[in-house]
Amino acid sequence: MGLEEKLPSGFLLTTVEKAAGWVRKSSMFPATFGLACCAIEMMTTGAGRYDLARFGMEVFRGSPRQADLMIVAGRVSQKMAPVLRQVYDQMPNPKWVISMGVCASSGGMFNNYAIVQGVDHIVPVDIYLPGCPPRPEMLLDSILKLHEHVKGEKLGVNREQAAREAEEAARKA
Ligand code: SF4
Repeated sequence: MGLEEKLPSGFLLTTVEKAAGWVRKSSMFPATFGLACCAIEMMTTGAGRYDLARFGMEVFRGSPRQADLMIVAGRVSQKMAPVLRQVYDQMPNPKWVISMGVCASSGGMFNNYAIVQGVDHIVPVDIYLPGCPPRPEMLLDSILKLHEHVKGEKLGVNREQAAREAEEAARKA
């Protein structure tokens, strides 16, 4: 007799890891962190036409304590960098970062002393989204790609430490 026949109908089998991944990706709350023109597209993504709520993440949280996704939308000034890091540190683990637009990812056209040349100097980045500004469809696409990544993540892994170790190993190689 096959396993399906032994089990009552509607019985669902999964692993704790897969269930946690599904829950995490289905209830991701972004922190409010608009920095420049890219933020306008981010806000549009949350509005009715693009309807971010379809993916369980309609609420942009005012408190970092209630957020697990940081969308860095726009160029990061040197003055804002410590604030951004503080907000990131206040977010509970696990947490993820999307760098939205060329300015956040590399400084973009602002190649000068006032702008951080890539937000990955300040916080670890999971997704780099190109464009100036990226359209809401592109932000949605990057969020869905992040969801896929989160679904397959291992439980109990300190992501920052893992990234540091990988960096260290790459430097030694
Ligand atoms: Fe503004 Fe373009 Fe920079 Fe986004 S990438 S912050 S739209 S200049």
